[in-house]
Amino acid sequence: MQVLPPISGISSAEQSIELLKDLLAIPGPSGQEGRVIEYLKCVLHSLGIPESAMVVDDANKSSPFGGEVGNLIVDLPGDLRLPRRLFVAHCDTVPLCVGSQPVRDGRYIVSANPATGLGADNRTGVAVLLNLAVDLLRTKGKHPPITLFWTVQEEVGMQGVRFVNTQHLRNPKLAFNFDGGRAGKLTVGATGCYRMTMKFTGKAVHAALRPEEGINAITAAAMAVHAIHAAGMLGRIGSGNEAVTTNIGVVEGGNAVNVVPDRVIVRAEVRGHDPVARQHILNHFCQTAQDAVCLIRNATGEPATVHIDSHLDYEAFRLDANEPCIIAAEDAIRATGLVPIRAITGGGIDANWMYANGIPVVSLGAGQVDGHTFTERVDLAEFEAALHIANYLAVSENVSNCCEVGNNLYRERRHERHDDAD
Ligand SMILES: [Zn+2]
Repeated sequence: MQVLPPISGISSAEQSIELLKDLLAIPGPSGQEGRVIEYLKCVLHSLGIPESAMVVDDANKSSPFGGEVGNLIVDLPGDLRLPRRLFVAHCDTVPLCVGSQPVRDGRYIVSANPATGLGADNRTGVAVLLNLAVDLLRTKGKHPPITLFWTVQEEVGMQGVRFVNTQHLRNPKLAFNFDGGRAGKLTVGATGCYRMTMKFTGKAVHAALRPEEGINAITAAAMAVHAIHAAGMLGRIGSGNEAVTTNIGVVEGGNAVNVVPDRVIVRAEVRGHDPVARQHILNHFCQTAQDAVCLIRNATGEPATVHIDSHLDYEAFRLDANEPCIIAAEDAIRATGLVPIRAITGGGIDANWMYANGIPVVSLGAGQVDGHTFTERVDLAEFEAALHIANYLAVSENVSNCCEVGNNLYRERRHERHDDAD
């Protein structure tokens, strides 16, 4: 594992790219981020950050997926009169990136191994935070207190950030998530998602000796899926903010060709920005399945049944249009020579659970292109712009001023909430 050479001067663009390539080459699918965390700690150590300033928490112990390591949270002490900033990035990748061989190809980094993705989602974000630490520690200039937060298990429902103990984050006044493509794009809202497990139960009998006594769970599941499809409950439903998307993604069941199957599991999801519209579709989806399975009965009239477990995987969020972190990020993007564009995403991101944990976070691009595919790559121009934006967000006085505006906003909101409660 390569560690930084002795510290002297500001990190060069080339060294930023070398750090990024190191990070892209480290295997780290969700739950197996141990080597990434070790690498980060090793580099931070070489910069003079003491062990006492680094916490590896035990979010993995609360995660339903387990996992070998928790989140890494690092405190960079600074001028306490300035508002603390938090920078977050997830360090896991989707499994197809294991074996990535990052190489430079003109303005891009790609994987020389055609059988893998690159891991740009989200080692670009990880590298932005690490390069920020390098810059701040080398220049030794004045900066506010900063929390660096590398999360685990984002790709499996944001488990790392979901189970972080927020006290470790030290109450930041402004927070920024680096996980995305173009450096000028700010994600200010994201969808919410329900996940469902549908257990279809029938009756197992010998398929040739007493088939009339059996109840076929595969037929029951097929009837339910067909009914959901016929009712227009699959895919995109509606439009605008009330649009909901649904998917049936997994079917498991049956184990012998001469047995009427008695058990089938179907997994599905329902996503949407608007909780009311989403709940309406979820109810309809489940009721349609319940109604359809009743039609499957054996000779004595016993019906198939379905039991549906659904849970909220993560709730949707939409930041206030004047949220200080958005104003600060737009200022930083303009200072980098780009035009800020606000966006809402249909996928879940760490910012969903940050928001649920009481910390509004704006998400910024870091140069990822075609994430979760074999043609994934890093656009180095966007990556370098993201480095500049992060640096500006960390040290600019304008950003501290945004926070003052933000404090007033929070005071007003607290007042409003108080009025509502009365
Ligand atoms: Zn990501």
